[in-house]
This record gives sequence, structure tokens and C-alpha cells, in this order.
Amino acid sequence: MGSNQFPLRFFLDPFGCVKNQVDAETMMASLNGAGWSVAEGAADADLIIINSCGFIESAKQESINAVLGWRKMYPDKKILLAGCLAQRYAKELAESLPEADLLFGNADLSGIVKAVVNLAGSSDTVAPPMGNEEENAGGLAGKRPLLSLPGSAYVKINEGCNNRCTFCSIPLIRGPLRSRSIPDVLAECRELLGRGIRELCLIGQDIGSYGKDFSGADSLLQGSLLPKSLLPDLLEALSELEGDFWVRLLYIHPDNFPLPILDIMERDKRFLPYFDLPFQHGSEKILAAMNRRGTAETYLSLIETIRSRLPGAVLRSTFLLGFPGETDEDFQALLDFQDKARLDWAGCFAYSREEDTPAYSMKNRVSKKLTAERKRIVEDRQAGISEKQMDRFVGRELDALVEEAVDEEEGLYLGRLYCQAPEVDGAAVINSDWNLAPGSMVRGRVIGRAGFDLELRI
Ligand code: SF4
Repeated sequence: MGSNQFPLRFFLDPFGCVKNQVDAETMMASLNGAGWSVAEGAADADLIIINSCGFIESAKQESINAVLGWRKMYPDKKILLAGCLAQRYAKELAESLPEADLLFGNADLSGIVKAVVNLAGSSDTVAPPMGNEEENAGGLAGKRPLLSLPGSAYVKINEGCNNRCTFCSIPLIRGPLRSRSIPDVLAECRELLGRGIRELCLIGQDIGSYGKDFSGADSLLQGSLLPKSLLPDLLEALSELEGDFWVRLLYIHPDNFPLPILDIMERDKRFLPYFDLPFQHGSEKILAAMNRRGTAETYLSLIETIRSRLPGAVLRSTFLLGFPGETDEDFQALLDFQDKARLDWAGCFAYSREEDTPAYSMKNRVSKKLTAERKRIVEDRQAGISEKQMDRFVGRELDALVEEAVDEEEGLYLGRLYCQAPEVDGAAVINSDWNLAPGSMVRGRVIGRAGFDLELRI
């Protein structure tokens, strides 16, 4: 890159979910390795990279607006549109979005340096075939800058998804399930812990499916026709690592919950009893139309199993409102499920009609107005449930990961407890007589609750 026309500074505008965040970190590591440096702001950059989201309509629009906004502000700078939107609509956007100089999909991030070099020549579209996850993630271990909160890092253990929920465009964008090997994930976790990371958040579209893409032969040998999740094997391997750290498991499709992970979590308390299980609905009819195998009964039974095995378990979920065919009765089934499940946290999403998904052509669409109304009802009820659920932590002594010094003079800090995942749940408001370093772990007593947040006294 030294002889290239643009071996200079880039600015990355990150969008979307935490999986996109890990992609952004991976691209930054590759570009850093090729001699580019990160600019403090877009004004100082020679190249602006927009890491787009293409999952739902509103996110698509936001990504396009970002391109238009940056272009208006900087007519002469190079703009590269990366991420899910660029992958999904590479051809269409190449024609309709001339404000972007280059489109670079996220199927194989190892090509980012080449794509950026292309910018020196002409406008182009790069939507590569699906790449190898180990090259994308593990190959850069040790070089990846972290965009996550202090002390915490996301570790992507698999990419893509084979579940084919009928509303979801992710398999169209991210492709089929591809898992990294256990030694590869282990090496990355070891390296992150060596850098002082105290919380490893394992992510993937559905980490309950981890390893099913290469466990088929073994499962057959063991007499099963179904590929087996290797998540328990991965946790066993991580359990061998020494040190005091947290492992947080994010996004397990409830139909794919590998029960043996509970044995490991009972034994090794470093695996946080925090579960993000996207149930999506409580109506059997709607769940079936979504191509999900579970029912409200099986999901409640899973919740019961988890809570009885791990009494401190904290559960987060997501609900999708306004799926085609959702009647008042179906909505009521979701409310009943919400009451019985008493989830600690839940996020609500309005159904977005996505091209090329099976749900796109489903009949009996629900109006945006009714969807928004139902979403608001579920959110309001959940706010009360979440606050009540958090009350059970008051009076307990717990570890907290410090994230930010708000006012050192006053001894006021922000952090998180095990019941609070990064960026999505409430926070721990920490009062301390000692100076606390962001990224460090401290222990204190929960003395109260304010809204969704818990107050901790050190
Ligand atoms: S599990 Fe379903 S919702 Fe999640 S990424 Fe896969 S297809 Fe999409």
C-alpha cells in the first residue's frame, strides 16, 4: 500500500448490530495492517467507510441517508459503502447510489484491502462469495481494534444461519451457517484476555447452532441424523482457560438450545447465567408461520428448566409484532406468554416486509398503525415487568464491570452487572470512595433501583 495513491486515513461510520461491529473491527485491523490509519473524524479522512445495515426497511434507509449525508458534506472524498446493505443490494445500489464510490459486501471481509485499492482506480462493486470465517476473524487475532465498551469484547463464533425464519433476510445477506473451529475461537479468547478484557461476549446469528455445519458426520456416528451443536464443547474448552473473567452468551435460537451448556454453567460461574433467547411470539399459529418449531408451552418449559437449574438466571428476548396473519387472538397469546415468562428484558420490533423472504408474499398483512399500537402495548407492559424483575437484585453483593467515570470527584461511575448485557439493558450506577478504572471489575452491594438501572455501592 505504500506506493498506492491512498495509503492514508479512513473514518468508519458504524451501523447496525454487534455482528456488524465485529465486522467493522475486522476491516479496521486489515486496513491498519495495510498501512492505513484511523482518522479522528471524517473531516481528517481520505476515505469514509459506512458499515451499513440491511436487515429491515428503517435500517436500510438510515444507511442510505448516511451515504447521502456524508457525500453532501464531503463532495470530494472517497466513500465506500460496506456491510449488509452493500452485500444484499450490490447490483441495484451500483446503479442507483452514485454517491458511493464503491460497494463492498460483508461475505468475505478478507478482500477489504483489495477493495480499497480499487478505489484508487475506478468505481466498482465488490460483492464477494462467502468467505472463510477463520480467515475473516481468527486470522486477525491480536490486531483487531475494539469498538466495544471498556473491558468487554465480542467474539463472533459463527456467521450466517440455516434456520430460515420466514421473516428474516439475514440468511440472504450473511449466507449459510459457517462456524469457526474451537482452537481458533480459543486462541482469540486467550489473546483478548491477555489484552486485559474481562468480558467475552460470544455472538453469532444463532450460537445454539454453533458447529452444526461440521458436526454432521460425528452425529451420524453417534446414531443421530441431526447435526449436533458444538456449543457445549466450545464452553468446555473455554472453561480450561485460567483467570477471572465473564463469558456471556448472546443469541441462542430457543429451538436450538443445547441443554448440556447448563451443566457447564452450573460448574463454572464465569459463564454468566444470562440468556438472550429470541422467542418472537407466543401464538402457535404465528410461530409456525415464522418457521419456528417451538410453541408458548415449549418455550415456557425451557424457561422453567433454565431457572430451576440456574436460580440467578436472567433472560432477555425479542418479540416481533405485526407478522402477517397476526389477529387479536394471536396478539393476546403473545401477551399471555409475556405475563407467564416474566422476562427480565425484551426488545420489540415491528415486522418489516423484506423482499425474497417467504413472508413477503403472505396474506393478511397487519397495518403499520396496528403494529405500532401492539408494539407500544408490549413495550409498556415489559417496562413494568423488567423493573420488577430488577428489584430482586437489590441488597445483593455482585461484581460490576466499570465502563465510564462520570464524575471522579463525586465518586460516580457507570458499569454493568451480569444481568446487564452491553448496550441493550440497564446500567449499574456505581458510587465509590476509590478511583475506579474503566475496564476493571469491582464488587459492591446493590442499594437500590432507579428505572431500569441498579445502584451499586462499593
Ligand atoms: S435464527 Fe431466524 S431470525 Fe435469527 S438470523 Fe437465523 S433466520 Fe434470521
